[in-house]
Amino acid sequence: MTYTEIKEKGDKKYYYRVKSVREGEHVGKERVYLGANLSKEEVRKAEVEADKKLSGVVVEEKKVGEKKMEEKVGREEKGITIKKEQDPVEWYSQVCLKAGLADYGPVKGTMVIKPYGYALWQKIQDYFNKVLEKRKVENAYFPMFIPESFFKKEAEHAEGFSPEVAWLAQKDDKSERIALRPTSETIIYDSYSKWIRSWRDLPLRINQWCNIVRWEVSDCKLFLRSREFLWQEGHCVYATEKECDKEVILFLDEYEKLCKDLLAIPVLKGRKTEKEKFAGANYTTAIETFTPEGKALQCGTSHNLGQGFAKSFDISFLDKNEKKAFPWQTSWGFSTRLIGALVMMHSDNKGLVLPPSIAPIKVVIVPIWKKGDKNILKIARELQEKLGVELDDRVEYSPGYKFNKWELKGVPLRIELGPRDVKKNQIVLVRRDSGEKKIVKLADAEKEVEKILKDVQNSLYTNAQKFLDSSIKKVETWDDFMKAVKDKKMVLAPFCGGVKCEDWIKDKTRGVSSRVIPFEQPSVSGKKCVHCDKKAGVWAYFARAY
Ligand SMILES: [Zn+2]
Repeated sequence: MTYTEIKEKGDKKYYYRVKSVREGEHVGKERVYLGANLSKEEVRKAEVEADKKLSGVVVEEKKVGEKKMEEKVGREEKGITIKKEQDPVEWYSQVCLKAGLADYGPVKGTMVIKPYGYALWQKIQDYFNKVLEKRKVENAYFPMFIPESFFKKEAEHAEGFSPEVAWLAQKDDKSERIALRPTSETIIYDSYSKWIRSWRDLPLRINQWCNIVRWEVSDCKLFLRSREFLWQEGHCVYATEKECDKEVILFLDEYEKLCKDLLAIPVLKGRKTEKEKFAGANYTTAIETFTPEGKALQCGTSHNLGQGFAKSFDISFLDKNEKKAFPWQTSWGFSTRLIGALVMMHSDNKGLVLPPSIAPIKVVIVPIWKKGDKNILKIARELQEKLGVELDDRVEYSPGYKFNKWELKGVPLRIELGPRDVKKNQIVLVRRDSGEKKIVKLADAEKEVEKILKDVQNSLYTNAQKFLDSSIKKVETWDDFMKAVKDKKMVLAPFCGGVKCEDWIKDKTRGVSSRVIPFEQPSVSGKKCVHCDKKAGVWAYFARAY
């Protein structure tokens, strides 16, 4: 059965040809994008083309050596059918699905992280667990069920999270309501109130890797917006305000470093406005990046919670003079959104592009052989052993098919090895990011591969930095602000800092919000707020955000 599905977003209608596909026990949907805002005629034409792509089961018969092999491909694997510059939303979803990172879950707004996507999360975890160890933070786990009364203890926090909280409907008793954690401050601080007694217990630094539920999201955008996602949340307690302030920035700096070194993503670093700060915090700091979709993406936040939670949850300690004192607290986190940022930032019309530092497979060898050519395979295997990389020696697929597949999955470097190369004692190295080919001596493989991978890592970061720089527009008037917003820029503007003023900006622009007040500030003396003309206190970045 095939039908055409229409999805509306804003004033645009997107058309998809959809077919039910059965693979063993699984029934799924295969979708082909037809286009946006099409006329009836265009729809009919696009449907015919799409139906060819949805043509079903392909059975190939191939002779391999002496074995006769029958290969069944349930779904013809197609590359990315939409261009990034054409429709970044659809392009993004295709990259995530077709590279095998994730899939949609059965409940609205949920996602499945597939092994290849989870491998990226594990790389991030491995990297950050080392940071935690260095910074003397221990991992622990707290329940995901939070009693309603805990939320009520910190009024601002409760109000900030109330629209997003999912409540448990069925329980075995009639006691108070239970929430699924939208964040864990309250449940963790309940424990802290029992654990902390003396100044000797401080500083206390604990991190939790867990899932989070924020129910208000109904439209799932893989990795970027979903009702449930994975994250880490650090929760630290200090005896003094000075220590607390210092470590708010310490962990923010670690996030910036993670984005740069592991993900090749440059970020803007600063403080959130009063309106955008974390509910219950004294102040919030954040790192943000900007994607080719024209939206800002928050990559991590670090909050100074002051003494508010300590007072609400009665976390107190006896100081060195045996006097009762309230400690200072921080919390900080990043989530699986980082994977979304990674996909958005580097990938292209052939699929995923991964920086070598995070790629689960950094290099793949694809031998180009004729039937019975055992010599090529022998050399390929020796090379695989030496470099410790992936070898795609499957005989049932053509080299061309393999090139496409590994490109789609974003493997940073491909090594091709054909009969001519063997004769000349050489290999061909093909970069995923630029497509550039380089022929090198077989004996130099190790050295050359290492050099190129380093170069890929650097050039991905440099290109992303160039993109970020070119996306920032500095303005001082409201007209220029509106124009920059329309051009999908990250706007840097003088701002009064007022919550009401920011509400108005969001309202008038239908959703543009302040992102960060950068730590590095241009001079603001004599400048007026870009919106209300009051004296500007700071320069702030504004953009649409995920
Ligand atoms: Zn203002």
